[in-house]
Amino acid sequence: MSDLHDRALGAYLGFAIGDALGATVEFMRPREIAARYGVHREIIGGGWLKLARGQVTDDTTMSLALGDALLQGGCSAFPGDARVDDRLIRGIGDAYVRWFKSKPVDCGNTCRRGIMRYMRDGTLAGAPNPGDGGNGALMRNLPAVLATLGDDTAFARLSIAQSHLTHHHPLSDAATLGLGRLSALLLGGMGHSACQRWVNQWVTDNPGFCFTPYRGYATAYVVDTVQTVLHYFTLHEDFEAALVATVNQGDDADTTGALVGMLAGARCGAAQLPQRWLSRLQPDVVQAITDQTNGLLALAQNLNET
Ligand code: MN
Ligand code: MN
Repeated sequence: MSDLHDRALGAYLGFAIGDALGATVEFMRPREIAARYGVHREIIGGGWLKLARGQVTDDTTMSLALGDALLQGGCSAFPGDARVDDRLIRGIGDAYVRWFKSKPVDCGNTCRRGIMRYMRDGTLAGAPNPGDGGNGALMRNLPAVLATLGDDTAFARLSIAQSHLTHHHPLSDAATLGLGRLSALLLGGMGHSACQRWVNQWVTDNPGFCFTPYRGYATAYVVDTVQTVLHYFTLHEDFEAALVATVNQGDDADTTGALVGMLAGARCGAAQLPQRWLSRLQPDVVQAITDQTNGLLALAQNLNET
């Protein structure tokens, strides 16, 4: 396995691990988590969704829906200078509809509203909406990062287009581009201290996301989500330490957990992921992630050769 492939698989599996670990304590306050679990550090299912042990939620299954649509669209979906055409975005919308109709274990309100709009009128974006500042577009964007690795223009167009199917908000856009670019740099091998410098610069350029001093909010509002993710990701170099600290902050813990798992997994690679967590994930999810990682990296390679 190449370093790139190991890091890409680490990001996607790390994302699913964070989702499964965090879902147990989603919507709990840190004090409630401490009273119930001490420190929550094992994938045990349960939570408000009454999950099976190792089960993932909408964060991972929506990402898989995006990945499926990108793989079905193929490299011909990035034609010429336009790079991302409407046919591809329609394919992504259709994949979100299929996902929605499959009765997922959870679906955020803004995602539901956007998918229902697309089903009703076929438009690829809603009007800009102050209510669209949730983390639902950000959380599912990793497949777009993998499919466009090495081509930042294609990455930005694809990320914004897939986001606007459900979330049309400048902070959602900024967060999706920011964490996507950070992921791409980590996949390219950027180390911890270079990463801290990059994050500091990004926060200087995007001051709404400034996370020092850390306020301790981990809600699904995209600012709270990004602050929590960047705080714990830059604080801990170790995958397990970063993820445990994140999910014990509670609230939207499956999504903050998934995003920290993605970044920390990209940094350490799949071979370094804690085996006791990896072995708890459902085999069909691990297989789908493994297959998609291969396919999406191949798309990126084609994109860079054309
Ligand atoms: Mn979820
Ligand atoms: Mn969540």
